[in-house]
Amino acid sequence: MKALVIDDTVTSATLVCHLLGKMGLEPIHARDGAAGIEAFQRERPDLILLDIIMPGMDGFEVARRIRQLEQDGEWTPIIFLSARTSDEDLERGIAVGGDDYLTKPVSEVVLKAKVRAMQRIAQMRYSLVVLTRKLDEANRELKRLSAADGLTGIANRRCFDETLAREWRRAARTGTPISLLVIDVDHFKQFNDGYGHQVGDECLKAVARALEGQLRRPSDLVARYGGEEFAAILPETGSEGAANVAEAMRAAVAALGITHRFSATAPTVTISVGVASMSPSRADEVGHLALLQAADRALYEAKRSGRNRAITASCTEPATCIR
Ligand code: GH3
Ligand code: MG
Ligand code: MG
Repeated sequence: MKALVIDDTVTSATLVCHLLGKMGLEPIHARDGAAGIEAFQRERPDLILLDIIMPGMDGFEVARRIRQLEQDGEWTPIIFLSARTSDEDLERGIAVGGDDYLTKPVSEVVLKAKVRAMQRIAQMRYSLVVLTRKLDEANRELKRLSAADGLTGIANRRCFDETLAREWRRAARTGTPISLLVIDVDHFKQFNDGYGHQVGDECLKAVARALEGQLRRPSDLVARYGGEEFAAILPETGSEGAANVAEAMRAAVAALGITHRFSATAPTVTISVGVASMSPSRADEVGHLALLQAADRALYEAKRSGRNRAITASCTEPATCIR
């Protein structure tokens, strides 16, 4: 452990350094404030003993600057040293960032006790910093897990709901269009019944990866909506762009070539996609449910008209619909 002694009085500094050495600390002596700050930056000591009255920069100023130089979460105990012991000095010393006060001439017993107390606080503080860091990490992981779907690893329903509401509000604010794709695996019940649940799960994972692979912008999101249903949010995207992404997703899943001999639609696993696009009016902060409904209706239409296709919703409210 390093202890920095900033004191212009050589006799006093020598004594304090000697006592610190006896306690097993490594003393570093600086003869004035500027040298002390320099030594602080170079050595990053575990403890500072700081004289108040020094030529040039006084101890209060040195303490203030050292506190500014410390990084987030860093804290070096500062004990002021002075022959003067007025209440005002003590108050000011604490106010500029000091932790304790020692009167000169320094008594070995008192110095030892105060250094030990500071070490104890520093240790506790360090443990707290480590603990806080671990907690931050755990919180980040928890947040990630709470937004992810357990099977496929892509965004889950909760994340989808939050993102849709947020992106809808943003679209309303910025006057930009927003598109939604609702995706459903065709004849998946037969797939599951025919090949077993485990193969079904693997199929869903592959489909999720294929869907995600078709997203082009960082703000796009594809989520597992539930069961064998997925949904994608495409902010700042009109109906033409959305139809392109939907078709790319359909083709990407077909290209996986996962055999499905129980499908009445194709020899491989396919998806149907419902597409809806809207440009929310500025005041409309809750219309995303209408968007979801429109995409759902389009999906139903895709299923009804033969599956393995993407269909764009024909909108009943032309004011909000992008054609
Ligand atoms: P359609 O073409 O009309 O969509 O028919 P479908 O059989 O896909 O639709 P339906 O909704 O009747 O069946 C969905 C099936 O998806 C039911 C269940 O067997 C399966 N499924 C839902 N969730 C999971 C899951 O997490 N894992 C697996 N393996 N299968 C699931
Ligand atoms: Mg379904
Ligand atoms: Mg289905």
